[in-house]
Amino acid sequence: MPKQVRVRFAPSPTGFMHLGNIRAALMNYLFAKQNEGIFVLRIEDTDAQRNINEAGYEIVEDLKHLGLNYDEGLIVGGKFGPYLQSRRKEIYQKNLNDLIENQKVYRCFCTEKELEEMRREQIAQGKPPRYDRGCLHLSDDQIKEKLVQKIPFIWRFKINQDEEQQIDDMARGKVIFEMENFSDFALTRSDGSFTFMFANFVDDWLMDITHVIRGEDHLSNSAMQAALFEAFAIPLPRFWHLPMICNIDGKKLSKRDFGFKLEDLKKEGFLSEAVLNYLAIIGTSFLDEIQSIDELIKNYDFSNIHSTGAIKYDLDKLLWINHKWISKLELQDLLNRVKPFLHDAYPESKDADDKKLELLISKVRDDIKTLNGLTTELKFYFKKPEIDEIKIEEECGADLSKKILDLIYTNLDETGLGDINLFLTKLKEESKKANVKIKDLFGLIRYFLTGEFSGIGIHDLFEMLGADVIKQRLFRLK
Ligand code: GLU
Repeated sequence: MPKQVRVRFAPSPTGFMHLGNIRAALMNYLFAKQNEGIFVLRIEDTDAQRNINEAGYEIVEDLKHLGLNYDEGLIVGGKFGPYLQSRRKEIYQKNLNDLIENQKVYRCFCTEKELEEMRREQIAQGKPPRYDRGCLHLSDDQIKEKLVQKIPFIWRFKINQDEEQQIDDMARGKVIFEMENFSDFALTRSDGSFTFMFANFVDDWLMDITHVIRGEDHLSNSAMQAALFEAFAIPLPRFWHLPMICNIDGKKLSKRDFGFKLEDLKKEGFLSEAVLNYLAIIGTSFLDEIQSIDELIKNYDFSNIHSTGAIKYDLDKLLWINHKWISKLELQDLLNRVKPFLHDAYPESKDADDKKLELLISKVRDDIKTLNGLTTELKFYFKKPEIDEIKIEEECGADLSKKILDLIYTNLDETGLGDINLFLTKLKEESKKANVKIKDLFGLIRYFLTGEFSGIGIHDLFEMLGADVIKQRLFRLK
């Protein structure tokens, strides 16, 4: 029987959730679901200095928000736990002891300063910077003396520089690394904690991970970790190194690029469906680009993935996809998602009933790209727009605007607003007689109602605002 697929998302709680790690989480999730596998969340918090308190729990919240539910990991548990690396020190120590016993590692007493000088010299001589293995050749007595003096040290893994390491990458196929290009890498820090390189390897091994799906920036780490798998005589998992996402200038995305942080996207009102949809379709091709997570599980073709180099982050495309999702959601669902935005922008919206809000939303949802955009579009409803007579004159000219206002007021007096359709029909007839174009007539009415000369259709506006408010707003210059 083939082994059950087990994949993992293994973020370090050192900052914020961003498009790069959401994409890694998504691809792991899709791969697990498509193969009836297990999706594990492991928090890689071995670097105490870089960790942010509680960030692991924020990651759990973010995954929940995105709907990327994991089967094993922080909070939900599982039989391969603990899933926080800071709770796995004894496991790493035990495996380090095996390497010590088999003489695959050695102590390195070099200071940061010495290592930095070594690097600088090598670069100045045009050589690739690499640890010179000075400490590999220390005698037992020298080591003893340094230990007596309590000089801090780290454990380095002794790589075999004459050999090659080979990994199987789902996009690239066989990737071969000449190990002469690598340094003996650190497995511990001088405070005794374990490095990413070692902890990540031990966990992938002991958590029985079958496929390591992560960013391309880890490609050379995979070579070094392949050497660790070899040292323990364990078969390698398969890998997929995901192409990096870069900005318009071709540089790695950073927090300065809008929409890189999940937080930015949430604040602007991007739907999680849209974010996942966008991240799934970039770098591959879909006939129908709008795909729900269930459709992606069915349709994502893992046999057709390429190593395309970097992928450009295209905010316009993400906006387009978000727009499509906003038009596609059930109205009640959309209302629930936009409510916090409305409540925040217009506290009075808390008193509006759901039916009214649904009507308002249904009139504008097809024209906007984000929930924030939707909120802005409805501003006129909650905040009476200011009227600027100079603007009216600029737009229509003094004579025309007077003519239009007369038409409006006469008709309002005559028909009232009990029957909006009757009012509009009469008004249109009278305007025709008076040689006033409907476009100008409606433009000015719209300005009174919304503060804009163009935008939402007049019939829709009337339905949204209702007779009383319309009267109030139209009579402002009378
Ligand atoms: N903690 C690493 C990171 O956040 C994990 C990389 C991996 O998936 O192996 O980059």
